[in-house]
Amino acid sequence: MQDRNSLIWLDGQWLPASEAKVSVLTHTLHYGYGCFEGIRAYETASGPALFRLPEHLRRLEDSARILAIDMPFDRATLTAACREVVARNGLNSAYVRPLVFLGDEKLGVDPAGAKTHVIVAAWPWGAYLGGEALQAGIRVRVSSYARHHPNVQMCRAKAISAYANSILSVREARRDGYDEAILLDTEGYVAEGSSENLFIVRDGELLEPETTSALDGITRRTVVTLAREAGLSVRAKRLTRDEVYCADEVFFTGTAAEITPVVEVDARRIGDGQPGPTTRRLQQAYFAAVRGEDAQHGDWLTPAT
Ligand code: PMP
Repeated sequence: MQDRNSLIWLDGQWLPASEAKVSVLTHTLHYGYGCFEGIRAYETASGPALFRLPEHLRRLEDSARILAIDMPFDRATLTAACREVVARNGLNSAYVRPLVFLGDEKLGVDPAGAKTHVIVAAWPWGAYLGGEALQAGIRVRVSSYARHHPNVQMCRAKAISAYANSILSVREARRDGYDEAILLDTEGYVAEGSSENLFIVRDGELLEPETTSALDGITRRTVVTLAREAGLSVRAKRLTRDEVYCADEVFFTGTAAEITPVVEVDARRIGDGQPGPTTRRLQQAYFAAVRGEDAQHGDWLTPAT
C-alpha cells in the first residue's frame, strides 16, 4: 500500500517512506497509546482538496487531550503538513493519515519521559469496503464484541488502542462471510461499525444511535447537515438491533467508507435488499460536496496547494 518512495512528514521533516523509521522499542508499538486521523482529499475542478480538514485536526487535538498527550505541533503546522503531503506526492485524491505516537525514550506502561512524535502520510485509497460496496451495498453482522464502555476506553478519542476492538469485530464478520460488523455498546444498544457510524431510515426519518460508545464522526455530522438541508428529519435515539433489522434503509458513514449502503444484517434483508432512495440521495449530496460541486459547502474544502 505505502509506496516506499512516497514522502512522509515526520516531526517537521520530509523523508522518503523508506527512511521515516522508528525504533522497535517505540512505546506506542508496545502498548498502543496514541491517536490518529483519517482525512480524504478529493479531486475537484480546482485541484485536490482536503475535506473538512479543520474538523479532523480539531478531533486529533481532542483525542490527544483525552489521552493526556501534549501535542508538539500546532494547528497551523499540521494543516500545512496535511496539505503538502498531498501536493508533494503528486496525488489527485488521497487518504491522509496524521498519527501521534510516543517514542522509545521510555518503556513501561507509564509513558512519562517518552517523547511525542507526529507523522503525516498519504496514499491513494479507493472505496474502503471494495469497489461494489458504494453501489450494491454490503452485508453486516452484529458483532459478538461490544464497543468500549466510556470508562474502559473513551470512544470520543480516535485512539489507536480502540482499533484492536474494531479489528476483532471485522475479522469475526469476515470469517463468517460478512463484509463489516455493527458493534453494540455494553448496554446492548447500537453503537457504530468497526470504523463507521451508522444511520437507519424508517418511515422517511433518519435515526442515529444516541450513545457514548461511538466516535463523533465527521462524515456523520456532514450527513446530518445535508439531510436537514434536504428537508429530512434527523433524530438521535437509543437504537436496538431489532430496530436495525426492521429499518427501511441502513447505511454506514465514514471518511474511508464514505456513505456505504447496508443491505443485509444478520441474514435479514434490509428493505427490499437494495440501497434505498434516501441513501442514494445522501450519497449524491455527499459526493457533490466532497468534489466541490456544492457551492453552499465550499468552505468544507481546503485546497492542497
Ligand atoms: N467510528 C469509528 C470507530 C471510526 O474509526 C470512524 C472512522 N474515522 C468513524 C466512526 C467515522 O468517522 P469519520 O466520519 O470522522 O471518518
